[in-house]
Order: sequence, then C-alpha cells, then structure tokens
Amino acid sequence: MSEPREETKSICPLCAVGCSVRYDKATGRARGWPGAPVNEGGELCPKGIAAFDVFDDAERLTHPLMRRNGDLEPVSWNEAYDRIEREFGEIVADHGPDALAFLGAPHCTNEENYLFGKLARSLGTNNVDNRARLCHDSTMSAMEERLGSGGMTNSLADLAEAGAFLVIGSNPADQQPVAFDSYVRPAVNAGAQLIHVDPRANATTRLADTHVAPRPGTDALVVALLVKTILDEGLVDEEFVADRTEGFAAFAASVDEMDTETLARRAGVDPTAIQEAARAFGEAERAAVVAGTGVEGDGPDDSATADALLNLLLLTGNLGKRGAGMNLFRGLNNEQGACDAGALPHRLPGGRPVTDPAARAQVADVWGFEPPAEPGPTELDLVREFGAGIQAAFVLGENPAVTKLDRQGVARGLRSLEFLVVQDVTHTETTAHADVVLPAAVWSEKAGTVTNLDRQVQRMRVLESPPGSARSDLEILCALGERLVGDGFEYDGPQEVFDELAAVNPQYAGMSYEGIGMSSQRWPFPDGADEGTDILHREEFMTGERRAPFVTIPTAEPADEGTEEENELVLLTGSRSGDIAMTTMGSEVGTHDDTLAIHPVDADARGVADGDRVVVESQDGRVELVAERSQGVRRGIVFVNAGVADPLLGAGRTRVRIS
Ligand code: SF4
Repeated sequence: MSEPREETKSICPLCAVGCSVRYDKATGRARGWPGAPVNEGGELCPKGIAAFDVFDDAERLTHPLMRRNGDLEPVSWNEAYDRIEREFGEIVADHGPDALAFLGAPHCTNEENYLFGKLARSLGTNNVDNRARLCHDSTMSAMEERLGSGGMTNSLADLAEAGAFLVIGSNPADQQPVAFDSYVRPAVNAGAQLIHVDPRANATTRLADTHVAPRPGTDALVVALLVKTILDEGLVDEEFVADRTEGFAAFAASVDEMDTETLARRAGVDPTAIQEAARAFGEAERAAVVAGTGVEGDGPDDSATADALLNLLLLTGNLGKRGAGMNLFRGLNNEQGACDAGALPHRLPGGRPVTDPAARAQVADVWGFEPPAEPGPTELDLVREFGAGIQAAFVLGENPAVTKLDRQGVARGLRSLEFLVVQDVTHTETTAHADVVLPAAVWSEKAGTVTNLDRQVQRMRVLESPPGSARSDLEILCALGERLVGDGFEYDGPQEVFDELAAVNPQYAGMSYEGIGMSSQRWPFPDGADEGTDILHREEFMTGERRAPFVTIPTAEPADEGTEEENELVLLTGSRSGDIAMTTMGSEVGTHDDTLAIHPVDADARGVADGDRVVVESQDGRVELVAERSQGVRRGIVFVNAGVADPLLGAGRTRVRIS
C-alpha cells in the first residue's frame, strides 16, 4: 500500500478572501482545503491555483546587491547590513529620524508589517505607511470616525442570510470569486435581491436583479437618491433610528431639499432603477452593502460615497445584526492585517491613534519606549518629499516607481534620495534606483499570519525553500532591527512576533498562534474571551457610543463634471473574469488582457472597429490596446484592466483620448 502524500496547508496569497490551500510538493499541485475557515467547501478560483506558478519564477533575486561605481553588485548579507546601518545612522544624525521613510506592503504578513512599524518607531519616526491606504483610505476614515472601526462589520458567512445586497464599486464575481460564489450567489439564488451599481456590466451584473450604471464618480449621488427614496416611501427603520443614531432630523431635512430629477440626470441613472433598488434594499429585513475600491473618492478627504452608504445602513437599521452591514471587499491578501499591525503613520497596532497618550503608554509597556506622538505623512506625501524632507527610504516589497501616482515625479524623487534600500523578490523599476537591494522570500517560502477581509487571522506555512541566499522579510527585519536599534528585535520566528503583536494590539489580545492553528481567529478577540466577534456594533459602536451620527452628503455640482463634449472619455479600471494580473511579492502569476472596452456609440464617433489597435493617452501616459466594442460599458467611459492601465493613471479621475 502506498503512503498518503504529504500536503502542506497554507493560505492563498492572491486576494483578501483568504482561501485555504493544500500543496503537494511532489506533484506541485494545489487544491482547496475542505472544512477551511473561508472556502468551507474547498473551492479555489483559477487565480488561486495559478499562485503556485511563482515557484518557477526564473527572475528571482538570490543575493544582496549593493551599488558600486553605478552598478548593483552581489555582496554578502553583512556588507549589505553594514552599509544600511552606516547610511541610516548618518542620515538620522544629520537630519533627524523624520528624514527616513518606510514604505511597507499589504501582501507581507502581519508579523512583517508589525516589525516594519516597530523599526520605524524605534528609530524615532511615524513615517511608515502601506498601500492599503490607497485602496480604502476615505472609506476607512469614514468608518473609523463614525463607527469607531474601519473593519468589515460582518462576516462572510452571515452574508448568506442577507435579503438584499447593494454591491457598489466592486465586481466580486471576478475579484473575490470564492466569497461571491460561496456566500452571495447562494443567497441570491435563494431569493435575495442583488443591486449592482457599476458603470460597466460585468460578471456580478449577470446575477443582479437591478443594474444601476451611473457616470463614473457619481456613486455618492446614487446612494443619496436611494436614501431619498427610502425616506419618501416610509421605509425607514424608525426604532433603530431612534435608538442607535443621532442627527436624524437635520439629516432628513437636508435630504428633503434634494432635487431628485437633477441628481438623477447628473448621475445619468434611470429613476425607475433607483426606485426599484431603494425598495429592494429598504423592504428587506436584512440588507448588506458590499463595497470595493470603487467607492473611494478622488482624494483621501473625499468620503462622500462611504458616508452616504453609512447613512443608508443607519436609516434602514442594517448595522449590528446578521446578514447586513458595511462589508469592505478588499483586494490584496493582507490589506486588513497590514493596518491592524500598525504599518500606518497615524495609527499604532490595533488602529489606535498615535496621538492617544494611553495607547502610546500601553505600547511602551511592551516595547520599552514610547512611540512618537506626531502622526507621519501619508505614503503619497512621503514619496512627494523624496529628496526634500525625506533623505532615505526603506521600500519593502513595493514598487513605487510604477504603483504610485505621478510616475515621473516619483522617479525624480527616487533619484534624488541620498540612500534607498529596496527589499523584494525580483528586480523592479524601483530597484533600478536602489543603493542596496535585499532578496526576499515569496509568500510560499515563509511562515506567519495574514488577516483576511472579514477579520479572520490565519497562518501561512512554508511550502518551499527560498532560492540562493534569499531570506524571509521577517528574518531580514529582525537582523536590521538588531543592527539599527539593538534590543527588541531578537525573535525566534513568527510565533514570538505574533505573541508580541497580540500583547500590543487589544483587538488581537485573546488570540494565540497555536490557537489559530489550522483554523482561524477573528478580531476583535479580547483577552479572556472564548472566541472572536463575528458581527461588530451589536450593542454599541466601536466608538464606545450606542449611537452613530448621520452625515449630510454634499450634492452640489462640481465645476468639472462632464467630459463628453471635450472628446475625452473617463477611464475605468478593474479586472475581467479569469484574469490573473495580480502580483505576488512582485512576481507576475498570470496574463495581461490588453483590450479596451468602449461603447459602440463612442467607438463610432472615433471610427474605431472591433479588434482595432488604438492608442490611449492620458496626461500621465500612453498605451496601445485592442478595441472591443461593448454595450456593457456606458457611454463616456472606457474600461481597461488594472495593471495594463497603470501608465495612464494620475491623481484623481483619469480622462483619456483615443486615436
Ligand atoms: Fe485565492 Fe482569492 Fe481565489 Fe480564494 S478567491 S482562491 S483567496 S484568489
């Protein structure tokens, strides 16, 4: 009788759903894991299966590199560490610790993000941030301010009990397929209503009862229209409003003044679809919002859509109960965990403000020193200061040369830094500017925890050895911490780091690495509790208050709305079914789809036929794509796959011309 094959269990790194996988090293085959915390039935989507292709990546960095006479040359780890210790020491001595910047990565583990934040603060600065900020900044700010937490309010499993879904700024059927197919689709098949707000019809729309296709950038108006209809038709949960909200009278008065016809015209939506959607959401006993990055505003302060969605949930009593809530469908696998672990310039582990003296004192009890009280700049502001206020940067698993806004400005900034360290798994556009490059392990070569979109902490395990002398980010950060700081960075692996994170982060206080084991633990998990909390805000909001406030949504017309008459089209990005365009620690694991979807009327106006190669230009860049005429995108916009669209993206809404 043959021995059963040995399989190692880990977590898929390709999106924030956090499916469990089991990997057979002998065959290189990945499968789902039946009975797993998220993909209970053992499903994996094609992206998850392809995550294992990374093992064959021939482009991996295998040795530390240091720039000498203009070229990056292989050096020993000690030589690389010596140089970093010397350069960082001199820059702190000459300019102070706030001349350093630490750019972390939401695909690194909780322990790595925690150590990255601790390293920055040990050196005396809060100049540490990660890319999750770019994806959900304004939504998290609105939720933190009004509810006391930016975390998804409910669990994926209890979404199956929703009677209505409002999916907005998100295409979960393509982007979070296992979550959509396991929890949303069964509920809809059992009779729940699905309202999809998206300028482009896609795989999620195919299941929708109502499709609202607004002009890009007008989601807040759509939600305001839903709110007005719910008020007008008496679908308000009066008991919830009286018991759990504040500011209703002023809010209702502001909604009453809204001119429905004008707003619908500006948003370009059909009033009948709005009425249908409002009734479906307002009449359901349990209704849930599923929101993606598309609800982000044009800047960090533009939280109008998120605020409007919170108003809708408060008005209909859909917070603090099953099958309801504000459910943030995040993209990258550990966006939630990177923030939980404190890789943020304004928040300590557990989401507590750095300005809170009690939080700093609690952290100081564990760290032995108090972190700085002044919030650091955001990642974008740090990058803008490269070569000015910032003299040295430590970039962990990120590629700001192509992933940040204003590409030429970022390249200039990278060139003007006195010293740049990049830790990554392959060469990137950013390593081209580096003074020292440190070769890191990919997700499958290291252990640690990650936190998925519904706040479940799970363990990743080592499936393969890193190539050459590449090391895990955790190992490198511990070694650098000992060099740059001294005490406080001696850990015997991720479990010890996780234990310390749980001691510092009150939301993780009751968790343990062993307790997570093959399963998961969900925050908030207070010390002494038997388990974590599925549904937030049940009795009181995480602000500590029983009531959450309504917020008036500005609906005045901005000066620059409307583009058609300028012969420009608004660029919309996302992913199509079957795309595998995400990166795993810098390694591509799929193909790019280089089509441009354009409405036939817009295509005719430009003489574009199906299959034509077209040049697409924005003020930030230019790409050549293949045209695909589609009724699935509304007039005035074009759709391009995320990643392929990168060269075109600039600050705010991107408009393009086609020739
Ligand atoms: Fe991986 Fe996300 Fe697909 Fe699950 S849904 S297998 S986590 S890519």
